[in-house]
Amino acid sequence: MTVRDLATDHLQEVDQRHLLHPLHNAAHKARILVRGQGALMWDADGKEYIDGLSGLWNVHVGHGRRELAAAAQEQMSTLAFASNYVGQSNRPAIELAERLADMAYPNLNTTFFTSGGAESNESAFKTVRYYWRRKGKPDKIKIISRQHGYHGVTMAAMSATGLPNYHPMFGPLVPGFIQTAAPFAYRNPDVDAAAELEKTILAEGTETIAALIAEPVQGAGGVIVPPDDYFPRVREICDRHGVLFIADEVITGFGRTGKTFALEHWGVQPDIMSFAKGITSGYVPLGGIMVSDDVADVIRSGSGANAWMHAYTYSGHPTACAVGLANLDVIARERLVEKAAETGGYLQKKMKELEELPNADGARGLGMMGAIELVADKSTRQGFPAERGVSTKALALAAERGLITRQRHYGAGEMIMVAPPLVTTREQVDRMVSILADTIQEAVAATA
Ligand code: PMP
Repeated sequence: MTVRDLATDHLQEVDQRHLLHPLHNAAHKARILVRGQGALMWDADGKEYIDGLSGLWNVHVGHGRRELAAAAQEQMSTLAFASNYVGQSNRPAIELAERLADMAYPNLNTTFFTSGGAESNESAFKTVRYYWRRKGKPDKIKIISRQHGYHGVTMAAMSATGLPNYHPMFGPLVPGFIQTAAPFAYRNPDVDAAAELEKTILAEGTETIAALIAEPVQGAGGVIVPPDDYFPRVREICDRHGVLFIADEVITGFGRTGKTFALEHWGVQPDIMSFAKGITSGYVPLGGIMVSDDVADVIRSGSGANAWMHAYTYSGHPTACAVGLANLDVIARERLVEKAAETGGYLQKKMKELEELPNADGARGLGMMGAIELVADKSTRQGFPAERGVSTKALALAAERGLITRQRHYGAGEMIMVAPPLVTTREQVDRMVSILADTIQEAVAATA
């Protein structure tokens, strides 16, 4: 008998015996998902769920798109793989790089492909060090990142990640990674995060800083949306102190916030942008960095001992790039960026209404990503003790009612986050938010 013939409880048992999961918890019985269509997914027992986090913030065009499968089949049947190492190239990678140059910030016209977000950020960190070395400033090596930031979990990306629970069992962190404040208005209304960044740069010494990495809207850290003046000020501070700005648009890219790329909300351009997730809507793994014309010129002029010796086997993978092109076709044809802005406005309004619940507060978001804090006392913004597990219970109750999404505990509190596919309908938004409304107070009562 093959694994595919086994009943759900057997699958769960085999899963626990043979598979390690991201953020592995041995006690956890897995929900086994077997099918998806649009914003919906079904488990092995036929139960239907709204995919409230678009898989992992990535299934922008929704599940079940046959044209993405057809693009993969066509490319795999023609040329599934060819190395993109120097001296060789392939059509889908060339076409996708050209398409990205048309879509991205005007100063970003050159792409290096990876297979995911962490590889993209590693590529960005190495590239900023390379850039400064080539500019005769070899001491500019440090990377500043922000509290609550998530940049992946390979060694350097983990070292930039500002969620402390990812660190304790894997130290020491890579040297040269520095943290500064995030503009988290609900928790730290009095912190001027842009001013804090400048203080951090000056305290470390401008001559030692290579770059800042920042998500335009912090995702996994809790959908933290900056005030409107934050990124214009950050750009100005970086320019004034000779610090490159890496925008981590792994979550925010390709329409998630209602703009193609999120810094467009504030009229700012980065020097390097990391992307992944939405480029293929998760149908196959693909990511990359786009670099400014200035950075690209420096890379192109390197050779011999100065060459940009950075490489992945799967950089410019023809099949992944073909799926990326087909995915961008869907996003353009169905105007999903505009749809994310429209439905996203509605989602934000509905999330705000959750604040009428006695223990829900601090609703926030942009486009098709949002979060709500679960608090014991709204007047003091006091959170529940972590061990009480209110948001974990809320997620379990929401799943029973047909909504899959994520929560996060942090020092001062906890929250539930949502980021449904860009194709989600208003009716599905209503269903999602009404499940949360039913669930939050019940979770508070059940854990009392
Ligand atoms: N950056 C951001 C902003 C992310 O949200 C993530 C993943 N959630 C990553 C980087 C890491 O991407 P990956 O898991 O593909 O390595």
